[in-house]
Amino acid sequence: MKSLVLIDSDALTRTLISECLTGKEWRIFEAEDGQAGMDLVLTERPAAVLCDLRTPKRNGFQVCRTIREQESLKKTRVILMTVSRFSNDRETAFASGADDYLVKPIIPVELLRVLTLNGENGAASRETQAVSPAAVGPTRIRFWGVRGSIPSPGRETYGYGGNTSCVEVRVGEQIIILDAGSGIRRLGQSLMKEIGEKGLSVTMLISHTHWDHIQGFPFFVPAYHPKVNIRILGYEGAVHGLRGALFEQMQTAFFPVGLNQMATHLTFEEMDDMQFPIGSGVTVRTMFANHPGICLGYRLCTPNGDVVYLPDHEAYERSEVERQKAEKETSSTGLEYARMQDEKVVEFLRGAEVVIADSQYDATEYPTRRGWGHTCADDTVLLAARAGAKKVFLFHHDPDHTDEKIEAMVASAREAAARSGSQIEVAAAREGEVVEVGEVNSPD
Ligand SMILES: [Zn+2]
Ligand SMILES: [Zn+2]
Repeated sequence: MKSLVLIDSDALTRTLISECLTGKEWRIFEAEDGQAGMDLVLTERPAAVLCDLRTPKRNGFQVCRTIREQESLKKTRVILMTVSRFSNDRETAFASGADDYLVKPIIPVELLRVLTLNGENGAASRETQAVSPAAVGPTRIRFWGVRGSIPSPGRETYGYGGNTSCVEVRVGEQIIILDAGSGIRRLGQSLMKEIGEKGLSVTMLISHTHWDHIQGFPFFVPAYHPKVNIRILGYEGAVHGLRGALFEQMQTAFFPVGLNQMATHLTFEEMDDMQFPIGSGVTVRTMFANHPGICLGYRLCTPNGDVVYLPDHEAYERSEVERQKAEKETSSTGLEYARMQDEKVVEFLRGAEVVIADSQYDATEYPTRRGWGHTCADDTVLLAARAGAKKVFLFHHDPDHTDEKIEAMVASAREAAARSGSQIEVAAAREGEVVEVGEVNSPD
């Protein structure tokens, strides 16, 4: 019997794949995250590894690269699988050393085909701490950058703002920064006024290292101040680590000051866990977004309610509908599967006070931009409505969208929500706007 290590965080997928291989001469070892999977790979030295791209603790690219670094595993066949249809994920998978790449839903005959290619490879086989809302006051959200892709200043975008993604969230004394797009420059200027004698500590959560989410970082002046501590968290991207991506954009060819010249206590943490506490009273939950490479959505669970930040994500169902139209295909399985993936997003948004989410396109634009990793605004609002969220902010506005266009998208999304019977509040994120979550309790 040949052994197979199956790594997927979704128990149902593991069961379906195991069932499809039952009686086919495969002994299966299951793991729900990349780290546990790698432990199994090192002890079992399997003939094949079937690993989902977006697994916690170590993603599929990392698993692939680690296996390829081991001489003793050179005969192990590595197959990455994913719900992602982005072509550069496929290319990165092969660049990371994958032998094959499967797009979910997995078709049994296709799975058997890729597993049995070079079947003789069997030779490698060895047979939070609770805090009361009154203690911290309301959770305050401030938008510093709301645009996607590239800064787009100008008269036509003046109302909503032209800076790229950066959102500040305050919970009591804690300062949490979501992404470091060009909006972070002005946030930095504002924070400089608060440094004082005792200094300042901030936590920065990076969704992913695409340019529009990190390009403001070199201009974040507190990072050059000796009394500022910055803890930067993210998940390792497709090719470069988090630190590597920030480091590279500050190399001589691109920027006059290097990362090492920043005076702060700067720490980088590439996350392993999908849920972790930051400071007192705030727990962060994460989910992998449907976006090229490794991209996260964050859910900040605060004493006043939860704030979800999902800046770059492509909703699954519309993407699948448009794909089938474009490829003149009809597949109810594909559609059902896409809906199941959307349901996971709904669960992630469930009951949130505020959802800030990708709404880059409208329904007429979307078909020509399918597969770019972004969502139609109506879909974002309907997903948040289904999740019972209280308020949703359209975010990651397209650089070509004028204030007028964004207002029309808000109107359309409101209509879509009303038609679905939802009472959800709908607005577009606007640079400079402050949103409070929870009651301000005045002390007696
Ligand atoms: Zn983006
Ligand atoms: Zn992106």
